[in-house]
Amino acid sequence: MPERIFNFSAGPATLPPEVLAQASRDLVNYRDLGMSIIEMSHRSKDFIAVTEQAEQLLRELLDIPANYQVLFLQGGASTQFAMIPMNLLGAGKDKKACYLNTGVWAKKAIKEAKLFGEIDVAYSSEAEVYNHVPADGDYQVDDKAEYLYFVSNNTIYGTQFQSFPATHVPLVCDMSSDILSRPFDIRPFGLVFAGAQKNMGPAGVTTVIIREDLLDRAPENLPTMFKYRTHADQGSMFNTPPCFAIYVVGLVLEWLKNLGGLAAIERINKEKAALLYDTIDRLDFYRGHARRDSRSLMNVTFNLPTPELEAKFIQEAAARGMSGLKGHRSVGGCRASIYNAFPREGVEQLVEFMAEFAKNN
Ligand code: PMP
Repeated sequence: MPERIFNFSAGPATLPPEVLAQASRDLVNYRDLGMSIIEMSHRSKDFIAVTEQAEQLLRELLDIPANYQVLFLQGGASTQFAMIPMNLLGAGKDKKACYLNTGVWAKKAIKEAKLFGEIDVAYSSEAEVYNHVPADGDYQVDDKAEYLYFVSNNTIYGTQFQSFPATHVPLVCDMSSDILSRPFDIRPFGLVFAGAQKNMGPAGVTTVIIREDLLDRAPENLPTMFKYRTHADQGSMFNTPPCFAIYVVGLVLEWLKNLGGLAAIERINKEKAALLYDTIDRLDFYRGHARRDSRSLMNVTFNLPTPELEAKFIQEAAARGMSGLKGHRSVGGCRASIYNAFPREGVEQLVEFMAEFAKNN
C-alpha cells in the first residue's frame, strides 16, 4: 500500500501534501519560536500575522475590493444558513428573500431562513433529484427581496452554476464546495461564504466575505456573536478564533498562489473533470447524474447499471488505493470529489479503472 492513497472524499477532503508537511512541522515548533502554532495566544503578533496573511492572500486570489470584509468564523457553513437571514433580513421592512432550491444544502438554508422572514423559493429542481441548476430565465426574483440566495456547487448531486444569476438584488452564495476553483467577479455579491473543509483547508473555519453596507442590517437585539458587525470590527478576534484551521487555510492559499492562482487552477480542474465526464459519456456502462449543462468540476456523480455493481466498483477501487467514491447516502451511486488539491494522477488512475471495470462486468 502506498503511503498516501487517492482520497475522493467530498469533505473533509484531500489537501496538498506540501501543506500537510509544513503544518506538521509547525505543529511542533512554529518558526523556531519553541512552541506550536496551536499553543500560542491568538492575540500574539505571530498569530495575528497568520490571520492577516490568510486574509491578504484570499483578497488577492479572489480580487476582493476594499468595501468587502473577510471574516473567519466558527460553526460551519450550516451556521451561516441562519446567520444570513438573521442579519440581512433584520432591518428590511418586508423581511423577504429569494432562494433557489438546488439541493439538500439549499433546502436546509431555506428552512433556517423561514424562521426569520418571508422566503420565496423561486426555483426547485427537487422533483428531478436535483440533477440540474436553473438558468436565469427559469425563475423570477421578487423586487422586494433583500437578496437572492443560491449554492454555486451542489456537492451531493454534482451540479454547478456555470455562470451566476444576473439579477438586480445582491447575490448571497454558499460556495463551500467550489470557492477558489475558478475566477469570478465578486462585485454582484452581497455575501459569499464557504466552509473550509473542501477547497480551503481543514474543518473548523468558515470564511464569510461580506459587502460593508450589509454589516448594519442586523436588528439590535441579535446576540453579539451572531452579528457580522461584531466579527468585522474585531478582525475575526472577538473571541478565540479557530487558530489552527485559519493557519492551514493560509498555507493552502499560498500553495494556490504559487500554482498560478485561480485561472491556472480552473484550467487544471477542467482537465481533470473532462477525463471523468468523457469516460462516463464514452462507456455505455456509466450514467452521469447531473444534466450536461449543469455538470460540476468538483464533484462528479455517476451510476452503474445496478446497486450491486456500484458496491463492487467502490470496493475494488478501494483495494487499488482509491477511497471515498461512495455517493452521498441520500442519492446513492458513486461520486468522485476532485477539488483543487486532488491530483490529476488520481483521476487518470480512476478512469483507467472505470474502463477496465466496465469491460469485466
Ligand atoms: N454547503 C455545502 C454546499 C456543503 O457541501 C456542505 C457540507 N458538505 C455544507 C454547506 C455544510 O457545511 P458544514 O458541515 O460546514 O456546516
